[in-house]
Amino acid sequence: MFRAQRLESPRRKKFPRLRKIVVRLFLFAFVGAGVWGGLYFTSWLGHRSAMKAPIAPDAPSQPITAADLFTPFQVLGTIEDGTGSPGEAGPAYQEPPSQTIDGLLTYGQDQPLTKSELAGLIGFLNTDPLAMEEDAYYATFLASETAFQTFAQDEGESLQAYLVRHVAWMDRALKMANPPAEGGLVARRFIILADGVFKFPWDVRSRRIDYVAHGLLDSDGSWSFVDIYCPKSCGFYNTDLELDTALLHEWIHAIFHLPDHYAFDLHASTDIHTLLEGSTELWQSFWSGRRPDISHGDFAMGGGGFMLRHYSALQLLDRRNRGNTHDNDRNRYEMGFLAQVPQVSVLDFGPESAGAGVLIYQTQACPPESPNRKASSCKILVPDPVLDGRLDERGRIVVGNLFARYEVKVPVKEGVLFIKVTNGDETWFRWMDIRDFNLAYWHGFTNSVLMRMDLASAADDPNQFSWEIKYREVYPKEPTASE
Ligand SMILES: [Zn+2]
Repeated sequence: MFRAQRLESPRRKKFPRLRKIVVRLFLFAFVGAGVWGGLYFTSWLGHRSAMKAPIAPDAPSQPITAADLFTPFQVLGTIEDGTGSPGEAGPAYQEPPSQTIDGLLTYGQDQPLTKSELAGLIGFLNTDPLAMEEDAYYATFLASETAFQTFAQDEGESLQAYLVRHVAWMDRALKMANPPAEGGLVARRFIILADGVFKFPWDVRSRRIDYVAHGLLDSDGSWSFVDIYCPKSCGFYNTDLELDTALLHEWIHAIFHLPDHYAFDLHASTDIHTLLEGSTELWQSFWSGRRPDISHGDFAMGGGGFMLRHYSALQLLDRRNRGNTHDNDRNRYEMGFLAQVPQVSVLDFGPESAGAGVLIYQTQACPPESPNRKASSCKILVPDPVLDGRLDERGRIVVGNLFARYEVKVPVKEGVLFIKVTNGDETWFRWMDIRDFNLAYWHGFTNSVLMRMDLASAADDPNQFSWEIKYREVYPKEPTASE
């Protein structure tokens, strides 16, 4: 059913220059120190402290040979940032055994890694990170020993096979998107950790999202199975596709650093009913973020999304165009809805709305007394419109840039617009949000755009309503002599 999943080959073993240095350092250390392979290693995690740590009981008993050494006498990784800093002495490092199981390179299958072994592995992998393509995304997966074993018992398949299936689906969705991310999603590896390792400072227990993949330089993010995972009873399991779409949704954040589309919803705590007075229950219960033309079925929508739709695909393309694809700091900073909008927008509701009055309301952050005020997306529609005007004889109005006060991101609290058009006794309305303006910008309308869209009546079903906006040049080019 799925195309073969592209997986990284096991670690490249080509370190000719490093090996030479390693051998020299090894001989120097052997002669100089005299004792090698004693009962205690200096804790080379001691970037933070000078504490000594005994050899783990599972450490190899036979002497380590020069051929096994890749990273002698250097702190190559730290728990905090995974990047390490040279300069402090430490013992030779031996990569934990790995094997490809059900299509996924696995560490710790037989002997889950301890905290120090994980730090060592990260430092080791970071000495020569695997290459990252510009239009591909890379993930590392981790699980506690208990989560790993329980999953296999309860679900009748290995967690590796399950992950490969989900990665394959997402990989295909990326490649089929418009525009495609040709490189898709690549699963780097799966690491099984001893129980109890998931603790501060990478306490991913609460969210299981790790935007920096424990500091692994070859991964855009990681996902960790800390507690027992029950996809079929606890998640959004799609039995037809055999996918936990809640898991895929979270990867949109963890690996791709994209925001929640449902952040544009207005919830029951906010009084939108007065603005929607006279409309049906369908409108009063319709959540503004769930636009079927942009979000329905998208991974970023959550609650069952299983594809990468145009908006999300353009968001990734925009980042690629700016060279940001694997820039973790920048992407996390920009994780939201960017203030990339045309300088001037002209809303066009068609000649049937000519001369009608138009009111545009913009959401604001919840007031302090609001019950959900602490939610990052808590917003209200205030009764004062940001624009009170009249459509021209073609049913158009110039609105400029309604988000001009934001430099990088438009807060989800202030990113939603409600438009009300009144002509005599008749009223029409619709939702817009920052995504409509992002789309115009990403379609090349960076300076100005004409946005042609329909208005709904209270009798329309918002789930069936045609929300699509067509983008046009505001000032069509004069035909040139050659045309
Ligand atoms: Zn989410």
